Amino acid sequence: MAHAVRIIMLGRQGAGKGTQCVRLADEFGAPHISTGEMLRAAVRKDSALGRAVKAVLDKGELVNDELMISLVQGRIGEEDARMSGYILDGFPRTVAQAQAFDHISEVRPTDLVIDLEVKRDLVLSRLSSRRTCEQCQANYVATGAESSPWTCEKCGGTVVQRADDTPEAINHRLDLYDAMTSPLISYYKDQNKLAVVDGLGTPDEVFARLRTAVAGIKNR
Ligand code: AMP
Repeated sequence: MAHAVRIIMLGRQGAGKGTQCVRLADEFGAPHISTGEMLRAAVRKDSALGRAVKAVLDKGELVNDELMISLVQGRIGEEDARMSGYILDGFPRTVAQAQAFDHISEVRPTDLVIDLEVKRDLVLSRLSSRRTCEQCQANYVATGAESSPWTCEKCGGTVVQRADDTPEAINHRLDLYDAMTSPLISYYKDQNKLAVVDGLGTPDEVFARLRTAVAGIKNR
């Protein structure tokens, strides 16, 4: 069996993490675990979890650490992640989450943490025009010329603006990233696990850089 790959993807909202994580998951046969998507799915289902977090998500706030840690602990304990690893997207987002995750993943530690780097002013304009398929999460760029309702080319679902992609929520999420999540860059650098990858360029160009970064760990 191929070696499991355990990767954490850091990077600002709108840096392209979602798109690239799907590709990495495909390439390395590991599940793409997106905590934002897990929470949005709970909101869509109107489950108890969804009702508890909806207002927090819509405002662009962070869900509390305890809830997030138990959600991720449960998910990485599932068979696919135990066997094949994970491409973790959106978690950890605070130092407390990272410390808890170090503890949870002690037996099967993370191989690599990638910081997908795109500057704040650039992600701001990307996020304002981002539209997302409600069903398969494919991202699109709005030009204003789309039909309404907008149908996803990939799955036929409806393409919408995420409830937290409003200017206020975007700015708030980016502030939170700088304050709460960017300290993780030095946290993982100190653990010798960090690779910084330039997130500018076409999806293919960025993916080629990511593959090189991951190949580095596979050859360790
Ligand atoms: P994302 O899709 O990663 O941008 O996440 C969307 C939203 O889900 C965030 O703005 C937070 O409200 C929430 N969220 C996702 N992951 C986490 C996390 N690790 N810690 C706290 N909140 C999170």
